[in-house]
Amino acid sequence: MQIEDAPSPNHDTRRHAVDMLVLHYTGMQSGEAALARMRDPEAKVSAHYMVWEDGRISRLVPESERAWHAGLSTWQGDDDLNSRSVGIEIVNGGHDFPLPGGALPPYPDVQVTAVIALAREIVEHHRIRPDRIVAHSDIAPKRKIDPGEHFPWARLAGAGLGLWPPEEAGAGCVWMGGDPGGLNRQLAAIGYDISDVPATLRAFQRRFRQDRIDGALDLQTLALIAEVERITKAATAA
Ligand SMILES: [Zn+2]
Repeated sequence: MQIEDAPSPNHDTRRHAVDMLVLHYTGMQSGEAALARMRDPEAKVSAHYMVWEDGRISRLVPESERAWHAGLSTWQGDDDLNSRSVGIEIVNGGHDFPLPGGALPPYPDVQVTAVIALAREIVEHHRIRPDRIVAHSDIAPKRKIDPGEHFPWARLAGAGLGLWPPEEAGAGCVWMGGDPGGLNRQLAAIGYDISDVPATLRAFQRRFRQDRIDGALDLQTLALIAEVERITKAATAA
Protein backbone atom coordinates (compact mmCIF):
# COMPACT_ATOMS: atom_id res chain seq x y z
CA MET A 1 0.00 0.00 0.00
CA GLN A 2 1.49 3.27 -1.16
CA ILE A 3 0.88 6.19 1.20
CA GLU A 4 2.18 9.70 0.52
CA ASP A 5 2.31 12.31 3.26
CA ALA A 6 0.38 15.51 2.58
CA PRO A 7 0.23 17.07 6.05
CA SER A 8 -2.74 19.20 7.07
CA PRO A 9 -2.69 21.66 9.99
CA ASN A 10 -6.39 20.97 10.65
CA HIS A 11 -6.29 18.74 13.72
CA ASP A 12 -6.04 18.86 17.51
CA THR A 13 -5.87 16.42 20.44
CA ARG A 14 -8.06 13.34 20.79
CA ARG A 15 -10.12 12.98 23.95
CA HIS A 16 -10.87 9.30 23.41
CA ALA A 17 -9.22 6.21 21.96
CA VAL A 18 -10.09 5.29 18.37
CA ASP A 19 -13.09 2.95 18.13
CA MET A 20 -14.79 4.07 14.88
CA LEU A 21 -14.08 4.41 11.19
CA VAL A 22 -15.98 7.02 9.16
CA LEU A 23 -16.07 7.01 5.34
CA HIS A 24 -16.73 10.11 3.24
CA TYR A 25 -16.67 11.24 -0.35
CA THR A 26 -14.89 14.47 -1.19
CA GLY A 27 -17.82 15.84 -3.23
CA MET A 28 -15.63 18.23 -5.17
CA GLN A 29 -14.58 18.72 -8.77
CA SER A 30 -11.24 16.93 -8.30
CA GLY A 31 -8.99 15.20 -5.79
CA GLU A 32 -6.51 18.07 -6.11
CA ALA A 33 -9.16 20.59 -5.08
CA ALA A 34 -10.26 18.44 -2.13
CA LEU A 35 -6.70 17.93 -0.93
CA ALA A 36 -5.94 21.64 -1.18
CA ARG A 37 -9.07 22.47 0.82
CA MET A 38 -8.23 19.96 3.56
CA ARG A 39 -4.73 21.44 3.85
CA ASP A 40 -5.97 25.03 4.02
CA PRO A 41 -5.91 26.29 7.63
CA GLU A 42 -8.82 28.63 6.81
CA ALA A 43 -11.08 25.71 5.84
CA LYS A 44 -10.77 24.00 9.25
CA VAL A 45 -11.59 20.60 7.74
CA SER A 46 -9.47 17.51 7.22
CA ALA A 47 -9.42 13.73 7.38
CA HIS A 48 -6.71 11.27 8.25
CA TYR A 49 -6.51 9.89 4.71
CA MET A 50 -7.69 10.63 1.21
CA VAL A 51 -7.94 7.85 -1.37
CA TRP A 52 -7.58 8.92 -5.02
CA GLU A 53 -9.47 7.41 -7.96
CA ASP A 54 -6.33 5.52 -9.02
CA GLY A 55 -5.85 3.98 -5.57
CA ARG A 56 -3.08 6.25 -4.33
CA ILE A 57 -3.44 7.25 -0.68
CA SER A 58 -2.53 10.59 0.88
CA ARG A 59 -2.05 10.88 4.63
CA LEU A 60 -3.07 14.28 5.98
CA VAL A 61 -3.27 13.76 9.74
CA PRO A 62 -1.59 11.08 11.91
CA GLU A 63 -4.10 8.63 13.38
CA SER A 64 -2.99 9.65 16.87
CA GLU A 65 -4.44 13.13 16.26
CA ARG A 66 -8.06 14.34 16.09
CA ALA A 67 -8.82 15.23 12.46
CA TRP A 68 -11.81 17.44 11.64
CA HIS A 69 -14.09 15.39 9.38
CA ALA A 70 -17.23 14.30 11.25
CA GLY A 71 -18.63 17.65 12.38
CA LEU A 72 -21.78 17.63 14.49
CA SER A 73 -22.62 13.93 14.62
CA THR A 74 -23.68 11.07 16.88
CA TRP A 75 -23.50 7.28 16.86
CA GLN A 76 -24.61 4.76 19.48
CA GLY A 77 -25.09 7.59 21.94
CA ASP A 78 -21.65 9.13 21.55
CA ASP A 79 -20.83 12.53 20.13
CA ASP A 80 -17.48 14.22 19.49
CA LEU A 81 -16.90 11.46 16.98
CA ASN A 82 -13.78 13.22 15.69
CA SER A 83 -12.18 12.26 19.00
CA ARG A 84 -12.90 8.56 18.54
CA SER A 85 -12.72 7.93 14.81
CA VAL A 86 -10.37 7.65 11.89
CA GLY A 87 -11.74 9.49 8.84
CA ILE A 88 -11.16 8.51 5.22
CA GLU A 89 -12.12 10.86 2.39
CA ILE A 90 -12.64 9.06 -0.92
CA VAL A 91 -12.25 11.12 -4.07
CA ASN A 92 -15.66 11.16 -5.79
CA GLY A 93 -17.70 14.07 -7.12
CA GLY A 94 -20.83 12.66 -5.53
CA HIS A 95 -24.25 14.27 -5.77
CA ASP A 96 -22.87 17.72 -6.62
CA PHE A 97 -20.77 16.54 -9.57
CA PRO A 98 -22.76 13.82 -11.36
CA LEU A 99 -21.91 12.32 -14.73
CA PRO A 100 -23.41 13.92 -17.84
CA GLY A 101 -26.94 12.53 -17.75
CA GLY A 102 -27.15 12.78 -13.99
CA ALA A 103 -25.86 9.40 -12.73
CA LEU A 104 -23.63 9.39 -9.68
CA PRO A 105 -19.94 8.97 -10.57
CA PRO A 106 -18.83 5.39 -9.89
CA TYR A 107 -16.07 4.42 -7.48
CA PRO A 108 -13.41 2.73 -9.64
CA ASP A 109 -12.44 -0.82 -8.65
CA VAL A 110 -8.83 0.11 -7.97
CA GLN A 111 -9.98 2.87 -5.62
CA VAL A 112 -12.31 0.55 -3.68
CA THR A 113 -9.52 -2.01 -3.42
CA ALA A 114 -7.28 0.66 -1.86
CA VAL A 115 -10.04 1.76 0.55
CA ILE A 116 -10.48 -1.85 1.64
CA ALA A 117 -6.74 -2.38 2.22
CA LEU A 118 -6.43 0.86 4.19
CA ALA A 119 -9.61 0.29 6.19
CA ARG A 120 -8.56 -3.24 7.05
CA GLU A 121 -5.27 -2.03 8.48
CA ILE A 122 -7.01 0.68 10.55
CA VAL A 123 -9.72 -1.68 11.80
CA GLU A 124 -7.23 -4.36 12.83
CA HIS A 125 -4.88 -1.89 14.48
CA HIS A 126 -7.59 -0.23 16.59
CA ARG A 127 -9.85 -3.33 16.87
CA ILE A 128 -12.85 -1.43 15.52
CA ARG A 129 -16.13 -3.37 15.66
CA PRO A 130 -18.07 -3.86 12.40
CA ASP A 131 -21.05 -1.87 13.71
CA ARG A 132 -18.74 1.11 14.17
CA ILE A 133 -17.61 1.30 10.55
CA VAL A 134 -20.00 3.93 9.23
CA ALA A 135 -20.89 6.43 6.54
CA HIS A 136 -20.80 10.13 7.26
CA SER A 137 -24.54 10.04 6.41
CA ASP A 138 -25.09 7.46 9.18
CA ILE A 139 -23.72 9.73 11.89
CA ALA A 140 -25.17 13.02 10.57
CA PRO A 141 -28.38 11.99 8.76
CA LYS A 142 -29.88 15.48 8.81
CA ARG A 143 -26.82 17.13 7.23
CA LYS A 144 -24.86 14.62 5.17
CA ILE A 145 -25.40 12.19 2.29
CA ASP A 146 -21.84 10.97 1.70
CA PRO A 147 -20.27 8.65 0.62
CA GLY A 148 -23.59 8.12 -1.20
CA GLU A 149 -25.83 5.28 -2.31
CA HIS A 150 -23.31 4.40 -5.04
CA PHE A 151 -20.62 3.46 -2.51
CA PRO A 152 -20.14 -0.35 -2.54
CA TRP A 153 -20.80 -1.22 1.11
CA ALA A 154 -21.60 -4.80 0.14
CA ARG A 155 -18.12 -5.22 -1.30
CA LEU A 156 -16.58 -3.85 1.91
CA ALA A 157 -18.68 -6.22 3.99
CA GLY A 158 -17.56 -9.07 1.73
CA ALA A 159 -14.00 -8.12 2.71
CA GLY A 160 -14.98 -8.31 6.39
CA LEU A 161 -15.56 -4.57 6.85
CA GLY A 162 -18.85 -3.39 8.32
CA LEU A 163 -22.28 -4.91 8.64
CA TRP A 164 -24.40 -6.13 5.75
CA PRO A 165 -27.75 -7.88 5.99
CA PRO A 166 -27.98 -11.27 4.25
CA GLU A 167 -29.40 -11.25 0.69
CA GLU A 168 -32.71 -12.76 1.71
CA ALA A 169 -33.49 -10.14 4.37
CA GLY A 170 -36.40 -8.03 3.22
CA ALA A 171 -37.20 -10.15 0.19
CA GLY A 172 -40.88 -11.05 -0.02
CA CYS A 173 -41.46 -10.20 3.60
CA VAL A 174 -44.80 -9.52 5.18
CA TRP A 175 -44.95 -6.96 7.93
CA MET A 176 -46.78 -8.43 10.88
CA GLY A 177 -47.60 -5.03 12.34
CA GLY A 178 -45.93 -3.91 15.51
CA ASP A 179 -45.72 -0.82 17.63
CA PRO A 180 -44.66 2.49 16.08
CA GLY A 181 -42.26 3.06 18.98
CA GLY A 182 -40.48 -0.13 18.00
CA LEU A 183 -39.03 1.42 14.84
CA ASN A 184 -37.37 4.27 16.70
CA ARG A 185 -36.01 1.84 19.26
CA GLN A 186 -34.56 -0.35 16.50
CA LEU A 187 -32.94 2.57 14.66
CA ALA A 188 -31.46 3.84 17.92
CA ALA A 189 -30.20 0.35 18.79
CA ILE A 190 -28.30 0.28 15.49
CA GLY A 191 -26.75 3.61 16.42
CA TYR A 192 -28.76 6.26 14.60
CA ASP A 193 -29.85 9.66 15.84
CA ILE A 194 -33.66 9.51 15.69
CA SER A 195 -34.50 13.19 16.12
CA ASP A 196 -35.63 13.31 12.45
CA VAL A 197 -36.88 9.84 11.53
CA PRO A 198 -37.46 10.44 7.77
CA ALA A 199 -33.88 11.75 7.46
CA THR A 200 -32.63 8.71 9.39
CA LEU A 201 -34.64 6.36 7.14
CA ARG A 202 -32.99 7.93 4.07
CA ALA A 203 -29.56 7.49 5.68
CA PHE A 204 -30.41 3.87 6.47
CA GLN A 205 -31.52 3.22 2.88
CA ARG A 206 -28.45 4.96 1.44
CA ARG A 207 -26.39 2.46 3.37
CA PHE A 208 -28.41 -0.78 3.27
CA ARG A 209 -31.05 -0.50 0.49
CA GLN A 210 -29.18 1.52 -2.08
CA ASP A 211 -31.52 1.28 -5.07
CA ARG A 212 -34.34 3.32 -3.51
CA ILE A 213 -33.69 6.26 -1.21
CA ASP A 214 -37.10 7.76 -0.46
CA GLY A 215 -37.33 7.76 3.33
CA ALA A 216 -40.55 5.74 3.05
CA LEU A 217 -41.28 3.05 5.57
CA ASP A 218 -41.93 0.18 3.16
CA LEU A 219 -41.89 -3.48 4.13
CA GLN A 220 -38.41 -4.13 2.79
CA THR A 221 -36.98 -1.19 4.74
CA LEU A 222 -38.72 -2.41 7.91
CA ALA A 223 -37.38 -5.92 7.45
CA LEU A 224 -33.86 -4.64 6.78
CA ILE A 225 -33.94 -2.44 9.89
CA ALA A 226 -34.90 -5.47 11.99
CA GLU A 227 -32.11 -7.49 10.39
CA VAL A 228 -29.45 -4.80 10.86
CA GLU A 229 -30.53 -4.41 14.48
CA ARG A 230 -30.04 -8.16 14.90
CA ILE A 231 -26.55 -8.22 13.38
CA THR A 232 -25.60 -5.08 15.33
CA LYS A 233 -26.55 -6.84 18.57
CA ALA A 234 -24.50 -9.85 17.53
CA ALA A 235 -21.50 -7.61 16.75
CA THR A 236 -21.72 -5.73 20.05
CA ALA A 237 -21.99 -8.98 22.01
CA ALA A 238 -18.96 -10.50 20.26
ZN1 LIG B 1 -18.29 13.64 4.81
